[in-house]
Amino acid sequence: MNFKAYIRDIPDFPKPGIVFKDITPLLLDPAALDAAVAALAAWARPLNVDLVVAAEARGFILGGALARELGVGFVPARKPGKLPGETVSAEYILEYGVDALEMHADALEGGARVLLHDDLLATGGTARALVDLVQGRGAVVAGFGFLVELAFLNGRSTLDGIDVQTLIAYS
Ligand code: AMP
Repeated sequence: MNFKAYIRDIPDFPKPGIVFKDITPLLLDPAALDAAVAALAAWARPLNVDLVVAAEARGFILGGALARELGVGFVPARKPGKLPGETVSAEYILEYGVDALEMHADALEGGARVLLHDDLLATGGTARALVDLVQGRGAVVAGFGFLVELAFLNGRSTLDGIDVQTLIAYS
């Protein structure tokens, strides 16, 4: 399937100069949504993961579907202050300032094999924070699957040594 046909460019969102890659047309189309989940699941199945961990908020959409498809549980990584239980946190650098992602401290067993997911890989800051969160709990990052990669931003360089899969790349 030509997944790229289901991604819509929104110029100057959320601020001037950014071309936002809007995945909602893909989510709206049942065949495209099914094919995207199936393609990521087909890549991930041999990785034999125990869990899917995904980033708030767009990562939750396919992340939940992927967990269901793989027959494993799902762990949400959320912005600070959103999770009710005891949390662990990893910071990442934004263009201006820092942000963080949190996960429940008891969500992962040491040695668990984890599939990470987010909708889009840009500079890699968010992705690296997810890796740090999971590895910080003694779990293993078995792979990182994205829908979209902005390859010209070279986010992959922050994920050295990790099995990375993207369905759509912009160079
Ligand atoms: P980064 O941390 O720079 O790799 O940015 C990745 C995160 O920001 C993902 O969670 C994306 O949802 C979001 N993001 C960054 N750039 C874009 C973009 N051009 N279009 C849509 N989402 C983006």
